[in-house]
Amino acid sequence: MIDKFDTSDYGVAESTERITATSYREEDSEIENGLRPHALDEYVGQEKAKENLKIYIEAAKQRADALDHVLLYGPPGLGKTTLSTIIANELGVNIRITSGPAIAKPGDLAAILTTLSPNDVLFIDEIHRLSRNVEEILYPAMEDFVIDFFVGNGPAARSVRLPLPKFTLIGATTRAGQLSTPLRDRFGVLLRLELYTPEELAQIVKRSAGILDIMIEEDGAMEIAKRSRGTPRIANRMLKRVRDFAQVRGDGIITREIADKALTMLEIDHLGLDNIDRRMLTTIIKFYDGGPVGLETLAATIGEESITLEDVYEPYLMQIGFLSRTPRGRCVTHLAYEHLGIPFKRAISGAGESPMQTKINFDEGK
Ligand code: ADP
Repeated sequence: MIDKFDTSDYGVAESTERITATSYREEDSEIENGLRPHALDEYVGQEKAKENLKIYIEAAKQRADALDHVLLYGPPGLGKTTLSTIIANELGVNIRITSGPAIAKPGDLAAILTTLSPNDVLFIDEIHRLSRNVEEILYPAMEDFVIDFFVGNGPAARSVRLPLPKFTLIGATTRAGQLSTPLRDRFGVLLRLELYTPEELAQIVKRSAGILDIMIEEDGAMEIAKRSRGTPRIANRMLKRVRDFAQVRGDGIITREIADKALTMLEIDHLGLDNIDRRMLTTIIKFYDGGPVGLETLAATIGEESITLEDVYEPYLMQIGFLSRTPRGRCVTHLAYEHLGIPFKRAISGAGESPMQTKINFDEGK
């Protein structure tokens, strides 16, 4: 059983009352612990990552060796912790779960490393938040399975090298770009987790409903899936809220209509956008003529942290084609105008905007 740590002091600060918040919250612990798949075959979607992992896991098992270090990256709530526990299960080894901000000093990391058994998995969430001096302990540990520490003071000080059992480090991060190069280079396997399709999320919702003994119709599951922003954590959280609604306002069965009513009441629109998404898009349209606008400026205008916009809101808005990142800033696409019911205005050259604007609107990339 996983006792998932409190992520409240992580880099991503979200408005906690949002049902669409992707970060882990206290209310998730009860259901997440029961809903986590335990084997690769139960883990829905992420086919590319699973296919690769199956081979590496099989090879490590045949050699009775530790799996190479794995870096999982992607937005929060996509199943990085879940996948790590599955990897440990499939390997038949123990997993030790911790996080970058929780390892304050090199000694904390040394204490964890020295208690690992051979081939165990050490999972470090938000690994990009490890401090520099902790990271330095990690380099020889990952590469040569040793830790170096100093004993004594002054001229009598000497370095002592302690051997460690071979282990697998699984690092998870929402921002692979923030990892230092020496750390990133020490991972043999780099896997990017993608947002889930509505069909995959519907499968997850049905699986969770089965475990929680919730009656749900096919259309009801699909309605929740389509509104959960590609993220299993949100889908499971919505399922719980819709169940309550179905119980009080319906006959306990989640139909499409019940799911729609419950989520509309929570101000989640049919694409899963909430008030903050809509405010972000309308701000770019109204104050910046659809963009480009720099991330920091946008964050200041709507009163959210830029890191939150980048990690939590943008991935989904970009996936559904409402937002594009350009070298000059963020741009809203005509699809978002249509969704918000705002007439799409082509930028007029010479009216204080770039003549490239309409083109930039559809450009992808940072
Ligand atoms: P992350 O570590 O990326 O923030 P988690 O691993 O904590 O995400 O996943 C959040 C929740 O979503 C878990 O409770 C888990 O049950 C569910 N989940 C995530 N990925 C999947 C999946 N592929 N199949 C089924 N459930 C999933």
